[in-house]
Amino acid sequence: MNKIIFDNVKHEKKVEFPEELIFGKTFTTHVLEMDYDSEKGGWQDAVIKKHENISLSPAALVFHYGQSIFEGLKAYKQIDGKISLFRPSKNLERLNRSAVKMCIPEIDIDFVMKALLELVSIDRDWIPSKPGHSLYIRPVVFATDPMVGVKAGEKYKFLILLSPVGPYYPGGFKPVPIMVTDKYVRAVRGGVGECKTAGNYAASLMAQREAKKLGFSQVLYLDALHQKYIEEVGTMNMFVQFKDEIATPRLSGTILPGITRMSVIEILKNWGYNVNERDIELKEIFDGYNDGNLVELFGTGTAAVISSISKLKYGETEINFSSEHAGELGTKLYKALTDIQYGKTEDKYGWNVIIK
Ligand SMILES: *Cc1c(COP(=O)(O)O)cnc(C)c1O
Repeated sequence: MNKIIFDNVKHEKKVEFPEELIFGKTFTTHVLEMDYDSEKGGWQDAVIKKHENISLSPAALVFHYGQSIFEGLKAYKQIDGKISLFRPSKNLERLNRSAVKMCIPEIDIDFVMKALLELVSIDRDWIPSKPGHSLYIRPVVFATDPMVGVKAGEKYKFLILLSPVGPYYPGGFKPVPIMVTDKYVRAVRGGVGECKTAGNYAASLMAQREAKKLGFSQVLYLDALHQKYIEEVGTMNMFVQFKDEIATPRLSGTILPGITRMSVIEILKNWGYNVNERDIELKEIFDGYNDGNLVELFGTGTAAVISSISKLKYGETEINFSSEHAGELGTKLYKALTDIQYGKTEDKYGWNVIIK
């Protein structure tokens, strides 16, 4: 039975936040570290210790062949001072699904959950209490075997880092312009599009860079096979509101099964909307815009929660919504989700895991 070891751990009460919290640049005092070694019987004890640089062989497998997976979730300081994590077991389950696909050994979800709650509790004063702020939690697993040669590792490191973050849109909940690309694809049938694995994000940088240059904040990818159906945006799942339906691409294996996506589907169904997970042709969206059947477009993901979409451009064709005001449904969903996360409303779905 593995243990949680506290290595020189001290609950830090006097936390100094930088003036401006740039996403993912500030880290808390501690990390969780857990090593895997097939010769020692698998996963070892989890150690909560100081956040500091780690030492790896230059030959560590991960640097050469990219065997690496990660997760992203958040802890919130609620309005009554309690600390809450949003559906964390969903993230650990997804981490294990990514692990299986990347030939990485699975973790014991119950044990890691216990260790994660200890870690967040120790660094709890690092959770900013300002509106829209939270603690971003980043679990990551990668192969460390010191050898050059393509194979699945026998040794891995699992880390959980914590990073206090401000609101994703510091200027308020503003809609974003998105560019549809048919020059690049994100994932292919039988590939690893449904995994949060490092290489997917390295592969997305060029499309993202080109979109930024043209004044767009992100790229919407189409399916690789037909270049006809919408898939997802950089790190967000897509939702399309038509007059009598809300549609989102089905989980075909090429898109990331977002936990915000899953939660939004549940809320919308609960509100009585007709929600369908299905193939959505890009053409349907542009046709809907022209004949008045398209109401709103938005994306979902942990970092921004909901991103309202102001503009969608494909070649010479454009859809334009207000660039000042977010759509009505997106705004309503953003409020519903964040009200649950910050404890401003009853958590009737039972999504929050409260620490104290
Ligand atoms: C993480 C991620 C999402 C959103 O998932 P959430 O669980 O809602 O944060 C969507 N698409 C991609 C490619 C992602 O990496």
